[in-house]
Parts: sequence; structure tokens; C-alpha cells
Amino acid sequence: MKRGYVLLLALVIICTTSFAQQQTEKPTSAKNVILLIGDGMGVSQIYAGMTANKGHLNLERFHHIGFSKTYSADDFITDSGAGGTALSSGYKTFNHAIGVDTDSIAHQTILEIADKYGKATGLVATSEITHATPASFIAHVPDRNDYETIATYFLETDIDVFIGGGYKYFANRSDGINLITDLENKNYQICTSVDQLQGVNSGKLAGLIYDDKPPRVTKGRGDMLLTATQKAIEILDQSENGFFLMIEGSQIDWGAHKNNTDYVVEEMVDFDKVIGFVLDYAAKNGNTLVIVTADHETGGMAIVKGDLATGEVGAKFSTLGHTGVMVPVFAEGPGEEMFGGIYENTAIFDKMMLIFGFEK
Ligand code: MG
Ligand code: ZN
Repeated sequence: MKRGYVLLLALVIICTTSFAQQQTEKPTSAKNVILLIGDGMGVSQIYAGMTANKGHLNLERFHHIGFSKTYSADDFITDSGAGGTALSSGYKTFNHAIGVDTDSIAHQTILEIADKYGKATGLVATSEITHATPASFIAHVPDRNDYETIATYFLETDIDVFIGGGYKYFANRSDGINLITDLENKNYQICTSVDQLQGVNSGKLAGLIYDDKPPRVTKGRGDMLLTATQKAIEILDQSENGFFLMIEGSQIDWGAHKNNTDYVVEEMVDFDKVIGFVLDYAAKNGNTLVIVTADHETGGMAIVKGDLATGEVGAKFSTLGHTGVMVPVFAEGPGEEMFGGIYENTAIFDKMMLIFGFEK
């Protein structure tokens, strides 16, 4: 009887201790954060891709999902400048702003702060690298269309890898300055084709793959986003202090602006392929938080027809612009449990800061 009581007491102590350990050992820091932004990627864009892909996407591998409120400081419906700035700097700002607040004051972005903390950094996009979403992570200008000024910011931060389009904003500028020469002087290896990317295995990489906008995935871009992502991670993974990488599926938005279901679906499936690669990397690495979200929804897309067996999908759109609807946030890795619920888009910046252990 007495022995039984002691055994029970011992069991209670063991259980309580292991529970307490579980509470304190929950990982609250990550060495690496990979943020994937599907521009214009609402729930309908995701489900259109999922239907076309016969009912499955890599996004289903996430177990922690939330929603973000995307409105900007001056508009119920955000653009990608204000949407990107909210994610990158934690400030809601006016539409078309890049990395500045409502008073046009510049604020450090998560990429710039990561650089200051000694982490490697990267940006990969299927738009010009000077386009609003990637620009929001590195530049500080009140007008997103000021591509030539945005390009100069790639020389202000010690970014390790950037890959996208927009070569001409570096090489063929109205001020006559050749930023390609400046990049070379800062030891960047310049790549102007996907094939050239394969020749770079370490060091700094400026991949300006297209003179202007990259084409659609089915009209010549092919596996550019996957190859660029693999190359960026191969290089950034060599950083002993970890890294921050933002990868954008830029053209989900462009397809939706055209109310073109095929375009949306192709870009969504391409982006999801990259999500699969990133999740595989993170699973192997073990110290990487992966976040997938959008800056806003585009097109007011509704799925009105579909066949999971054939992959046929029919959609209707309610606007040629963006909508004000919440967008999903997916997280996997250390700190993932912080991403459940409904919160402001700016909270995603705050959570990344917390998980990196950064202070402003
Ligand atoms: Mg974008
Ligand atoms: Zn758009």
C-alpha cells in the first residue's frame, strides 16, 4: 500500500517534470527564415492550383495556418508596395510606398536587420528584382515605379544573393551609371541566364536573368524559380550565422490581373513546386522556419467549376484589381505555432523578429 503510494508520487513527479520541459523546450528561435510570398495568392488561387494538380499541393504539408489582414494605411485594398512593406518592416503604409512609413520615413527591413546581425540574405522573384515585392525588402522609396532608384539600393545592403529580372535598371540607366560594374566591384558574380546560375557555387551572386520582366512559366521561364531557389539556398546555407531568404511567386498576381485562370494555375503550381523543395530543405536542416503567405488577393477569384480527376478548373473573377479579403499564412519549423489565428500583416514581421531573436 505504502509502496504503491510512493510509485504513484514518483510517476506524478516524472510526468510534471517532462510536461514542464516540453513547455520550456519549445523552440522559439530559428537560425534561418525562408519567407515565400505568392503575390495575389488567395484561397481561390491556391485551390485552383490544387484542383489542376489533381487535388494536391505541397501546401498541404503545413500544419500551422493563420490569416492576415492586408489593408494598407490609406486604402482598404492594398497594393504590393504597401503589402510588401508591412511584411518586410512591420509598418502599414500608403499604397505604392516601398520600405517607408506614412511620413515617407525609411524603416529597416527584416532583410537589412538580418544583415546587421551577421546573417546571409537573399531575394528571389519571378518579376523584375526591382518590382514592388522584392523591392520592399531592400529599398526605401515613396514610389514603387522608381525602378532605377530601387536598383541602387542593391548596392547599399550587403545582400548575398538576388535573382530575378530587370537587368536594364542596373545596366542601361538614364543617369548613365552602370550598376553592373559597381556590383562586380563589390565581388558579385553576375549571371544573365539560368544556365549561368549553375556555374556559381559560393560567394555573392547577382542573377539578373531577364532584361525586363521574366516571361510566364509556360512561355519560356520554365524552371527558373526552382533553379534560382536551389542556387540561393545552396549559397546561403554556407553561412555559419544562418540566413533570411524571401522568394516570390510574382506572377500569380499577373495572371489574376488578366483574369486568366490558366495563367494563375500555372504560376500557382510552379510556386508550389518551389514550396516543396523549400520544405524538403527545411526538414533536412532542422533549424529553418518556412512561412508562405500573400500580400493580398487579386481578381476576386471564385472557383465555379472543377474536376479533381481531370484537373479541369473553371473560375470567375470579380475585378481586374486586388481585393480586401484576408490571405492565408502557412508556417512550418521553429516558431510555427505562433502563426495560427487572425492577425495584421505587420504581425508577420514581428513574429520573424521574435523567432530570429532580433531587436530593433
Ligand atoms: Mg509582387
Ligand atoms: Zn497586383
